[in-house]
Amino acid sequence: MEEQTTTVSWAQALNELGVILKLDETQADLMLEEACRHEPAKCRRCGNEKIYRLGGGRLRCADCRYSFRPFTGRWLGRHRLPSRVWLAAIKCFELGLGARELAQVSELSLPTAAELERTIQMALAALDPSWTSVVRACAAGGDVTRSFKIRQQGDGVKVEPLAEAGDDVRIDLPPAGSTPDSLRAFRAGLRRWMRLPPDRLALKLKEWELRSNRRAGLFNLALEALVRYMPAGVSDA
Ligand SMILES: [Zn+2]
Repeated sequence: MEEQTTTVSWAQALNELGVILKLDETQADLMLEEACRHEPAKCRRCGNEKIYRLGGGRLRCADCRYSFRPFTGRWLGRHRLPSRVWLAAIKCFELGLGARELAQVSELSLPTAAELERTIQMALAALDPSWTSVVRACAAGGDVTRSFKIRQQGDGVKVEPLAEAGDDVRIDLPPAGSTPDSLRAFRAGLRRWMRLPPDRLALKLKEWELRSNRRAGLFNLALEALVRYMPAGVSDA
């Protein structure tokens, strides 16, 4: 029975991915442009929001005259890629496919696909203000905390990064027993998680929180997160 479910979702996954991969570049550009409306353009240099369009798709700040591309300063702007590839990356992420599968379907190198996956994880984590400093450290290759507290929150879970220093991974979990299924599965896989490098562990924990708490897919949330401006201190890759 379980195997059958997997087969069906794979067929669906391939179908949805196929639709994205067949988009022409204008359609894909329009989808990303549309998503950017949720977060109006602002000047990366002075923060001004009075922006006008130049020819060739560039934008110019009405105040300081700085000109920039539409994705400059947004998470999407970290990688210069065709819009269709971005959409495929977001779809793969939603489906829980890894960098290897993304590299295959979109003809990217494995390191580039892994970077895209990481940018999506960081953009999603940055939606939560209590994660800003962790996201900054992940982006800059700085020291990332290894201490976390996992709480039950309503029907779901909440992962809090703790500021404590220490070389060992510490994950405070609610007492076993009346906990949600997601936490039970998490406990079972904990030893594997604890072997991850600190930055990957942190981002994976946040991803796990989001997946555990959401009934709907992550595609729209990830897209909304990626068009946001990166927090100060996070630079282009
Ligand atoms: Zn400006």
